[in-house]
Amino acid sequence: MRLSKMHINTLREVPGEAEVASHIWLLRAGMIRKLVSGVYGFMPLGYRTLRKLEQIVREEMDAAGAQEIHMSAIQPAELWIESGRWAAMGPEMWRIKDRHGRDFCLGPTHEEVFTDIVRNEVSSYRQLPMNLYQIQMKYRDEARPRFGLMRSREFIMKDAYSFDRDAAGLDESYRVMYEAYRRIFDRCGLDYVVVDADSGAMGGSGSQEFTALAEAGESDILHCGCGFAATSEQAPGVDAPASREDLLPREEVYTPDCKTIESVAAFLGIPKERTMKALLFEVLGEDGNPVEYVAAFVRGDRTLNETKLYNALGVPEHRIRFADEAAMGARTGSVGGFTGPVGLRDCRVVADSELPGLRNLCAGALREGYHMKNVNYGRDFEADLIVDLKLAGGGDPCPLCGSPLAEGRGIEVGQLFKLGTKYSGSMSARYRDENQEEHPVVMGSYGIGVTRTMAAVVEQYHDGDGILWPMALAPYQVIVCPVKSGDETAARLAEEIYTQLLAAGAEVLLDDRDERPGVKFKDADMIGIPLRITVGKRAGEGVVEYKPRNEREREEIPAEEAVRRALEAVFGK
Ligand SMILES: [Zn+2]
Repeated sequence: MRLSKMHINTLREVPGEAEVASHIWLLRAGMIRKLVSGVYGFMPLGYRTLRKLEQIVREEMDAAGAQEIHMSAIQPAELWIESGRWAAMGPEMWRIKDRHGRDFCLGPTHEEVFTDIVRNEVSSYRQLPMNLYQIQMKYRDEARPRFGLMRSREFIMKDAYSFDRDAAGLDESYRVMYEAYRRIFDRCGLDYVVVDADSGAMGGSGSQEFTALAEAGESDILHCGCGFAATSEQAPGVDAPASREDLLPREEVYTPDCKTIESVAAFLGIPKERTMKALLFEVLGEDGNPVEYVAAFVRGDRTLNETKLYNALGVPEHRIRFADEAAMGARTGSVGGFTGPVGLRDCRVVADSELPGLRNLCAGALREGYHMKNVNYGRDFEADLIVDLKLAGGGDPCPLCGSPLAEGRGIEVGQLFKLGTKYSGSMSARYRDENQEEHPVVMGSYGIGVTRTMAAVVEQYHDGDGILWPMALAPYQVIVCPVKSGDETAARLAEEIYTQLLAAGAEVLLDDRDERPGVKFKDADMIGIPLRITVGKRAGEGVVEYKPRNEREREEIPAEEAVRRALEAVFGK
């Protein structure tokens, strides 16, 4: 492609609304353009990269035995009412009405539609297993669309759904998708981790997320060289080793004004690890009034992971909050800043899993201005529930190998869910087995945020001058730049190189615009073409400059050598 004939419009200025690298560079390189907040269109270069990414996804899905179909983005409300999700989906679901007042949505996902297909098309075990997928527009009316393609209101997803006879079949389908996802993200050149995830609104059990590591990401990730990775919300805490100390007699000590762990530890001259801290909650009933009090205890230096507490209690997040200290104190004997487990009444006591193994901790004495030394689990108090309540953090031991965990941020680019019979059950998607007995189809669902993956790649592949596309996703692989305008020798050599590369099957840009070298180089760097061949003052000797985008050094080599090296880099040796 000749740049003189191509629509390319790079921006010198950083667009005001763009905060993260992918948003900035995709806009500046002229790859995407905003229509309205959270809605983007793809320009020629951006669309080429998008189609390459889709093609990688398509090839690996096909190789994994999945079959591509294409469903409508417009979905009737009836299907969502049947699955029970019409009411459960919040304002993020883009709801519309047709001229007759019938409800529809612009699909945020397609479990219902695919389940509907399968219940109409599949009746026998002979038709299973089956995996159907599509690469298609999805809609989510985000409260705050931002970061360009990373959190937009219209986006392209690959979504796949597997249909099996039983749980063992689902396990196999899931495994095959997991392997396909690894190949897809490897081919995109992404640095990623796989984390166990909460399946949340999707329902079912068993879920993993493929997360590209990038500072601009929205999830906190803990990971380890051994392969362990988890969101910090999900990461299991590792208990301190059990203590072998003898139990010392309990002792009340005067600790005036010591309402925090820091002040108690400092006042008594002990490390925070020798203390225990209380976090007090109230569980709300239907009417919004407290129906139960909860005291959660963790070692003094730990942070409570509230999600773990809510999950252990089986209480949804909106039904629990920090307790009103006076009201809770009147009923349970808790005293703000001086609450310990000994003598607490009429409330649920939840202890972190390491507390029973620790000895002689200092805790609140349930009396203003006093703490109690040498509090021991079993002798002095017991808990209604003992679970891991600790928030894991960077530097904590890895739950698998014990090495310190690394902390980072990540962009969720793919998810795998074992749905089981959640949708086939509520929507009656059934098959008959060999004995003519009916069973619900067992399902999995598998998503890849295609446009988001494109953003994630830019987050990992950019520098101060623009994008550095990996070869597999570059809109073009080589750019040939004649830089001496009016120099016929240079123009002819550039033309020759361009023609040879094209003939060999490479994707090549020829920057034949009448522009200064500086402008050509800036554009080439910004749009991130992996290889640049510059034809300049030594064109007469047949010598050109060869420069990979990701290397600083440029080399002067004979033109034939440059062509040979470029083809090696494009097609592999
Ligand atoms: Zn590890």
